[in-house]
Amino acid sequence: QADKELINNSIRDVKDFPKEGIVFKDITTLLNNKVAFQTLMNHLEERYKSYDLDYVAGIDSRGFIFGAALADRLNIGFVPVRKKGKLPSTTVCEKYELEYGFDEVEIHLDAFPIDNARVLLIDDLIATGGTANASAKLIKDVKANLVETCFLINLTFLNGVKRLEEHAPVYTIIDI
Ligand code: IMP
Repeated sequence: QADKELINNSIRDVKDFPKEGIVFKDITTLLNNKVAFQTLMNHLEERYKSYDLDYVAGIDSRGFIFGAALADRLNIGFVPVRKKGKLPSTTVCEKYELEYGFDEVEIHLDAFPIDNARVLLIDDLIATGGTANASAKLIKDVKANLVETCFLINLTFLNGVKRLEEHAPVYTIIDI
């Protein structure tokens, strides 16, 4: 609990970003605070060390930071789920709806080179759950085993977790 408070206090609210009326949760102030960052990573390592995971998959782009750091702690591989057009080799792709329009995420077809790989999906924040939902589908599309999804921040009033729970268990650290 003290850890969660320390982590929560290191996250900054930025008003009117990326547009008026939105309060953006800025995690750069967590990353540059070595105590907060290490506290978070200790917490995640402690939780996931017994999960027998094969890979951590991180969502573009802040999910890369936490995901890669966690994969290294767990001594396993890291896989990026990227926004469309960034991955160089053969990909599988999922379209999802935004407030206005659509976006797409992609994963390499051969991202998990072992059968039934046990995968944790991670991102900094879940809002509507659209991005995570599409990412979860991708992991299943390439025949990996999505063991859990993990988010540092959950904007509970948008109900993203409920939607995502159809695919896999959801673990969140800070619920707002
Ligand atoms: P969703 O698809 O609506 O759940 O939005 C989640 C995605 O948007 C994640 O990849 C987040 O990194 C990003 N996102 C949305 N709002 C914020 C915010 O306030 N801070 C940081 N990232 C955000």
